[in-house]
Amino acid sequence: MTSAVFCADIGGSFIKFGVSRHPGEMEECGKVPTPVSSWDDFVQAMQNLIDKFGADLPAGTPLAISTAGLVSPQTGEMLATNIPAFTGHSLARDLSVALARPVTAANDADCFALAEAHAGNAQNQPVVVAIILGTGVGGGLVINGQLVRGHGGVTGEWGHGAITRTELRINGENYSVPRLKCGCGQTGCLDMLGGARGMERLHQHYHQQGRTSLEIVTGWLNGDAEASLTVNAWLELVAEPLALLVNILGPSRIVAGGGLASASELIAALDVKVRGGVLHTYEQTLLMPGKFLTDGGLVGASVMGRLER
Ligand SMILES: [Zn+2]
Repeated sequence: MTSAVFCADIGGSFIKFGVSRHPGEMEECGKVPTPVSSWDDFVQAMQNLIDKFGADLPAGTPLAISTAGLVSPQTGEMLATNIPAFTGHSLARDLSVALARPVTAANDADCFALAEAHAGNAQNQPVVVAIILGTGVGGGLVINGQLVRGHGGVTGEWGHGAITRTELRINGENYSVPRLKCGCGQTGCLDMLGGARGMERLHQHYHQQGRTSLEIVTGWLNGDAEASLTVNAWLELVAEPLALLVNILGPSRIVAGGGLASASELIAALDVKVRGGVLHTYEQTLLMPGKFLTDGGLVGASVMGRLER
């Protein structure tokens, strides 16, 4: 009996593949382009990776997958995926048949949450909320070490339906908040303003200036007045729904992932703001960047592969 798990982080461009031979260990084997348009080519690519890197492992060694998009826990079918080859397929069930081994799949935010709860900056915390501040806003929830998959596979998606305010008051001045149509069909979702693209949209709205989120955060750190207004507005808009999430779930730790999580000063400022807006008093840091900012998908998949084997 082996405890080995094959792990894959499947994005729109590349499949990152790894083998975890023992809990807590991950051998990253490299990456290959994702065959995005053909299911058969995708299956063949996965078979090749398993053959190449797991020749010494027993037949039937499980495979655990982290991928963008939503995985329905009822049918396993992929929803909102950016990989056309997956459309209409139950990734886990169909791959399991094709590759003759157990296959589990979850979305990348969920895998990041599992990685942080089991081996990262939220280790041994009972209620872990992972937030993704990437292109947009996402998240995942792990309670007592178990991923909460929720109805329809949608849990921790605090960026949608969380309608942002229409006006902010910053340093004694009123500022309007743009209400933008979101990809989910609603208008005014935090997703449109709370991630890196959202910060850039806010900057454009207030200053009619195209700057990258990195430039805006750097400007804020250097005391640039325009960047500071944008970041202060961003902090207000993101902290409020996050405080609501804290009041509902009572997390003992929130870990942040996605591009903006690399800006530790920004996450620290958000932590202070969130703790100032919740019912329960958190004396210590509640929100911090995750440990697995680049490999959360693979590490989380290895955890999931063992929990759900
Ligand atoms: Zn939305």
